[in-house]
Amino acid sequence: MTERIFRYLREQQPETPCLVIDLDLVEHNFRRMRELLPAAHIFYAVKANPAAQILSRLAGLGSKFDTASRGEIEMVQATGISMDRISFGNTIKKEKDIAWAYQQGVRLFAFDSEAELQKLARVAPGARVFCRVLVDCGGAEWPLSKKFGCAPEMAKDLLRKAREWGLDPYGISFHVGSQQTDLDQWDKALAQVSQMFFALAEEGVDLRMVNLGGGFPARYRAEVNSIESYCEAVGRALVRHFGNRMPEVIIEPGRSMVGDAGVIQSEVVLVSRKAANDRKRWIYLDIGKFSGLAETMDESIKYRLRTARDGTRVGPVVLAGPTCDSADILYEKTEYKLPLSLKPGDKVEILSTGAYTTTYSSVAFNGFAPLKAICI
Ligand SMILES: *Cc1c(COP(=O)(O)O)cnc(C)c1O
Repeated sequence: MTERIFRYLREQQPETPCLVIDLDLVEHNFRRMRELLPAAHIFYAVKANPAAQILSRLAGLGSKFDTASRGEIEMVQATGISMDRISFGNTIKKEKDIAWAYQQGVRLFAFDSEAELQKLARVAPGARVFCRVLVDCGGAEWPLSKKFGCAPEMAKDLLRKAREWGLDPYGISFHVGSQQTDLDQWDKALAQVSQMFFALAEEGVDLRMVNLGGGFPARYRAEVNSIESYCEAVGRALVRHFGNRMPEVIIEPGRSMVGDAGVIQSEVVLVSRKAANDRKRWIYLDIGKFSGLAETMDESIKYRLRTARDGTRVGPVVLAGPTCDSADILYEKTEYKLPLSLKPGDKVEILSTGAYTTTYSSVAFNGFAPLKAICI
């Protein structure tokens, strides 16, 4: 937690639950990534956190944006940047939304199927298009790939067709899975992608761009490698596989840009046991799976917690949200220990929650308001 967030929470005592984001840390994360991968164009993945102040801070720093829908494009447009800084990166788009984006001036689109390419050819003539390929997501704590991307042979075939159909076959993208812990995954993916590049070049289809997606980490319970080592691994893999035929490089960090910059302040609602001799206490917070902590699904993302009673004796807990749904349990199998003296009304801070929280929060399940974001 940054000093600024710490001070804000102490002085303002905001109504809980709420997410507090330190914009200076977002800016620092952006600058650091640009410094470490100077040749790459950074397209911030808007879905990680689309708070208007985050988008405008990043826009002011020169960031570009990876968007998934008309709604996200409109949020980015509100910052006043030009449309050539937007990528419509979702491979699943309505034709009318593609037409709308094209009319607004967006010229960079993703696809991973023939039917999607046909839509693009119909309503976005001449646009730069890139094909997403399937890659191995092993090592990712929040895998993304199975649903997106196609096999390399199909990708090559579609990129040939793109040209025939009046589009500009611009490049290839992949995503190694979010919160990727295995630094070798970029190397493996780039080995595959560079082969496709060179094979297509021999046929006269000259791709010019490779999009490495996201996958860079935030700091949850487990130690992670530094962002320096991630960027070094990516840089090394690019040189190894492309050498002096380096294409334009795009990266789309979401989680690593905003994750560590946010802290959720929550409050204990109830501490109970299911039987007098139960070893584990149940601790119910005023935030759960439906109010922003969706990435605890299958206990995938394991957040760090902080309480004012840290340093006193602890015992094992099951951690749950406040709604009347039995799926609203955050951690049951994963061992979490919290102070034995914890009681209703105590604050619990959930660290590194700047990414994938506010947008996952339901509108008002059980009457609980959507998670508020406060940018400072
Ligand atoms: C979600 C997403 C990202 C961001 O991934 P992170 O792991 O959060 O950095 C980037 N690109 C695409 C296409 C995505 O869908």
